[in-house]
Amino acid sequence: MRFTERLRTGAKVYSFEFYPPKTDEDTARLFTAAVELKKLGPDFVSVTNSSSGVAPYRTVALCGVLKAQLGLEVVAHLTCLAHTRAEIAEICDGLRKMGIDNILALRGDPHNVAPGGLRRDYSYASQLTADLKRLGGFALGGACYPEKHPEAPSLEADIARLKEKVDAGAEYLITQLFFDNSHYFNFLDKAAAAGISVPVLPGLMPLTGYRQMQNFTKMMRVEVPAALRGGIERWDGDKDGMFKFSVDYASRQARELLERGAPGLHLYTLNRSRAAMEILRNVRGAAAR
Ligand code: FAD
Repeated sequence: MRFTERLRTGAKVYSFEFYPPKTDEDTARLFTAAVELKKLGPDFVSVTNSSSGVAPYRTVALCGVLKAQLGLEVVAHLTCLAHTRAEIAEICDGLRKMGIDNILALRGDPHNVAPGGLRRDYSYASQLTADLKRLGGFALGGACYPEKHPEAPSLEADIARLKEKVDAGAEYLITQLFFDNSHYFNFLDKAAAAGISVPVLPGLMPLTGYRQMQNFTKMMRVEVPAALRGGIERWDGDKDGMFKFSVDYASRQARELLERGAPGLHLYTLNRSRAAMEILRNVRGAAAR
């Protein structure tokens, strides 16, 4: 059964996010991680895409390899800012040929696109979603932001735009990472009140250092609760201590999310397997499939 159907049945869905590697070392790490994580039987893996030019094909190619070589269910990320309408049609042809029929439709961020590579055919993910829906044959997902998208004037305004994306064809949503579950549950309430009824997979990632915490909070504008900040400060510089603290924190977050009805978990892996494996092992007992 494909994961979008599993989501509709209420079964818990588990997924991992990868990015296309940029170096040989990265590539080796990614495939080691993918092989390890496959052992956990994920419902899907997703592959990010943030550049223009030939780079989108790195995403498509990696999706093809993960599907053909490892037999994984794959979701390809496509962004408005990295593709023209014609490129989207071409990429979709390529995905179809590889038997990949899942797309996460995103706007993207200008700072991720190579200089001179910004595309202007689509301004918002809802427009890309509508186009993909017209092309047909793909199960579509979208991104959402429990603490609001940084550019949105308010959470309510952001959710009103999100409703347009869902109406355009997004069958499920994956959240931006967050470190305080109350944001997720508050967001679900507000989304439901706005008429959004698709499943919302929480996106989680264990923090691995003080610098990373600072970068993420600045870039994504997500809150870091005092308990998490304190632990990151306490364990900074101690790799093993930090790993254990972060995995424990994320596992507690994940357990509560699942127990309170989240439809599953989407783990941002940064192409590494160890933390994701431990988190899933820690929580699966709490929410049997
Ligand atoms: P949109 O849904 O288009 O929303 C962007 C902003 O525009 C929001 O503030 C929204 O409120 C507003 N808006 C929407 N529609 C309208 C409208 N009609 N008029 C006015 N305002 C509007 N980035 C990458 O580059 N590559 C990736 O692979 C990638 N993967 C991601 C995966 C997940 C799960 C998440 C959460 C994010 C990912 N991102 C990725 C980052 C994402 O592209 C950025 O956060 C981007 O700034 C917003 O993308 P979006 O698809 O949510 O945009």
